[in-house]
Amino acid sequence: MQIPARPVINGGEKMPKCKGCGAEIIFIKTAGGKAMPCDANPVVYWERKGAKNKIVTPNGKVKSCELSGEVERATGMGYIPHWATCPAAERFKTKGGEKL
Ligand SMILES: [Zn+2]
Repeated sequence: MQIPARPVINGGEKMPKCKGCGAEIIFIKTAGGKAMPCDANPVVYWERKGAKNKIVTPNGKVKSCELSGEVERATGMGYIPHWATCPAAERFKTKGGEKL
């Protein structure tokens, strides 16, 4: 029996991966011109000023939001900045001093 050296995921399509934890991420260009690494899966968000969570909209706006609420009142779909969910976020802060 042969074990394939590299399993093919997503039909071989290459997704960028987080160097810290290996999660699939996407880069969204924000209004400020920076590419923000975000979790690959979009989530529903509820925009609210002063909320502790951040969301990046598909057109690159960063907003404060709640990540749960009444579905009928949802603001839309957006992407969670990866540094908010990455278990290795602490690690890349110290590496090269790159700010995410
Ligand atoms: Zn990560």
